[in-house]
Amino acid sequence: MLCVSIAGDGRNFRGQVLTLRGRLTAAFLAVTFGPVLLGGAFVAATVAAVDRSRATERLAVAAAAVRTSIDALCQQLRAAADAVAVTTDHAGVAAQVVNRGLAAAVQVTDVTGRVSHATPNAPPAPWRDCAASAPFGGPVGALVVRVELRDTTGAALGTVAAAHPVDPAFVARLAAVTGVAVTLLDNAVPPARVTHSTESPGGREAVLAAAASLRDDRVTSTTDGRYLRRAGPAAGQPLPLVLSVPSDQPPGLYAVLVGVVLLAALLGVVVAWRLARVATRPLVELAGAVDRVVAGDLTARIPVRDGDEIGRLADAVNRLTRETGGYLAALASSRNQLRGHLAVLGDTLASTHDLQRILRVILHSALAAIGARAGAVLLTASDDGLVAECTEGFDGQRPGTGPVRVPLGSGVIGAVAVTGEPCRGRLAADVGPPSEPPCRTYIAVPLAGPAARPTEGPPTATGAKAAPALGVLALYDRLGGEEFDDDDLATLRTFAGHAAVAVHNVRVHEETQRLSLTDPLTGLWNYRYLRESLRREVERASRFGRMVSVLVLDLDRFKKVNDTYGHAAGDTVLVEFASRVRGEIREVDLAFRQGGEEFVVLLPETDVRGAAIVAERLGAAIRTAPVPVVGHAGVRESIPVTVSIGIAVYPDHADTGPRVLEAADEALYAAKAAGRDTWRAARAHRGGEPTAVGSAGTGRTGQAGGASSGPHPPSYGPGR
Ligand code: GH3
Ligand code: MG
Ligand code: MG
Repeated sequence: MLCVSIAGDGRNFRGQVLTLRGRLTAAFLAVTFGPVLLGGAFVAATVAAVDRSRATERLAVAAAAVRTSIDALCQQLRAAADAVAVTTDHAGVAAQVVNRGLAAAVQVTDVTGRVSHATPNAPPAPWRDCAASAPFGGPVGALVVRVELRDTTGAALGTVAAAHPVDPAFVARLAAVTGVAVTLLDNAVPPARVTHSTESPGGREAVLAAAASLRDDRVTSTTDGRYLRRAGPAAGQPLPLVLSVPSDQPPGLYAVLVGVVLLAALLGVVVAWRLARVATRPLVELAGAVDRVVAGDLTARIPVRDGDEIGRLADAVNRLTRETGGYLAALASSRNQLRGHLAVLGDTLASTHDLQRILRVILHSALAAIGARAGAVLLTASDDGLVAECTEGFDGQRPGTGPVRVPLGSGVIGAVAVTGEPCRGRLAADVGPPSEPPCRTYIAVPLAGPAARPTEGPPTATGAKAAPALGVLALYDRLGGEEFDDDDLATLRTFAGHAAVAVHNVRVHEETQRLSLTDPLTGLWNYRYLRESLRREVERASRFGRMVSVLVLDLDRFKKVNDTYGHAAGDTVLVEFASRVRGEIREVDLAFRQGGEEFVVLLPETDVRGAAIVAERLGAAIRTAPVPVVGHAGVRESIPVTVSIGIAVYPDHADTGPRVLEAADEALYAAKAAGRDTWRAARAHRGGEPTAVGSAGTGRTGQAGGASSGPHPPSYGPGR
């Protein structure tokens, strides 16, 4: 298969056999050299035809002249013979005839054939009779005319013959008269030999060689450039003559013609190659530049030389390359920007559970990626509304001045949160619905909840109400004034997906944290969180010179509750107990289930007196109302419950959290030992008077230990 490339460079066209330049060269060559070749051939053919025609004409004229000359000679010889025949003085008249040059020789013969008189210097025999026309053999010595010699009565006396020699001079005269070369053959039929000729020796050879093929009046050419024709023997011209003329063609005409054609061919090749080169150069440059562009070099430019089609094409390719370069640069910049945002986003997602910060980064990245003036992330709050967690780009407008709240179902954002369907468009007026910020164009996508995300589908036919989205990511006022499009929607969905995952993760994290720190039965903080809280509160108190009170609570004879009413009833009591404790303490106080039926309450900023008041209150809250339970066999019962409480205060009773807890435990034992349903405070480990505080409601009175000699273990005041 023929494979062609426009450039000489065949890198992409392996197996090429002919380039465009080669083809153009061949075409130009055909256009320029073809006519020259044809012209040369035409000139050669014309010259040959004209030459032959002229030679034919000359030979025809020469043949006529030969006939006329010989005819005239024969007439002259007849006149001479007649003149001799009409006289009786044959010898005298014959001499006069010869002397006057009418004949070269006269011969008189009698009827027997004997020569009765002959002039001297007769030409050699044989003599050829002028009237003869039949072929004969042998060389001719002379032309002769014979007339009858008769007496007055008409009786034949003999003949008178007048002859003229056929010698080289005769042939030369014929040649001079006709203007062509004349050759006399010795025989009219082949093989013949040359008797006399005015031709050159070489010409004679050529004449002899061609003589056999000469027929009638036809003209034949010889290889050495002569034209020949016969002129006799025929009636009135008895001699076998061949007339010949050299060709009129200038010598070396064909060599000149061939030389001219070859020169023209050479010039044609050069011109054609040059023309093809000039014609294909823009294409070669174009192909080279396109190759460079394909290889990634967008700086490649094609020189635009003219305003022709190739020039316009080159200009268009240049513009295309330039604009592609611009697009690529913009794309690269946008990609780098996006990469930077993604890096920040990834780092943020990986390194923190700070939801505010994560949402801020996501919003910022979405604004940069899509190109919008402002945006907000709103999360679904528990009170049937959306709250803006973070905003950007409002410059003091409504969303920036305070937390924005949007009721579910209200406006664009509220509708997106409820339906879970993204929404984009343009607001007719500058000011949007009351729940939206002022904007012209907007786009909002839901932060889909984790359950809905993997296989979201249309609402079920049963019309089950979908749970509201986790929140909404909304952008406002696309840069450039255009509306947000479907690509923006797809991009924003990606960011919303990240935001939803982040919100979900943070919430799961918070829940996990909460679960790991709370007691599943009562909902109070667990022992793990107790240790951490105790450490934190003691540290804070130590730093600010404040106090922390620790109450350790233990239900009295709880084993008996379990044994009597069952373990489930016991659990109910524990849950109710926790609830009452929670109801009796301040918001800053912390209640823990330490294990079993033992609880701890931390009272920041509280001294032993305040702690005693709380202990009194707690004891009363438990004591005053029996706990309703469902006992064995489903019987409803009310169980009277009491609690014993030990109190210790940092820094009064110990100097570390664990020691304070230990002191409170000791005080609890004291309270148990004092008969239960009361409280006791630990003894001060660094001196100070013990303070006794009465226990309200029961008549029992708890006491705070006062005189404690040593710091560890703390001692406690006497119970009742
Ligand atoms: P005291 O007045 O001396 O504290 O007597 P007590 O019976 O309360 O003391 P003890 O520590 O011997 O008994 C505690 C009981 O609390 C033992 C156990 O059956 C019960 N208990 C511990 N954890 C749970 C719980 O989670 N649920 C229930 N129902 N009972 C528990
Ligand atoms: Mg116990
Ligand atoms: Mg107990």
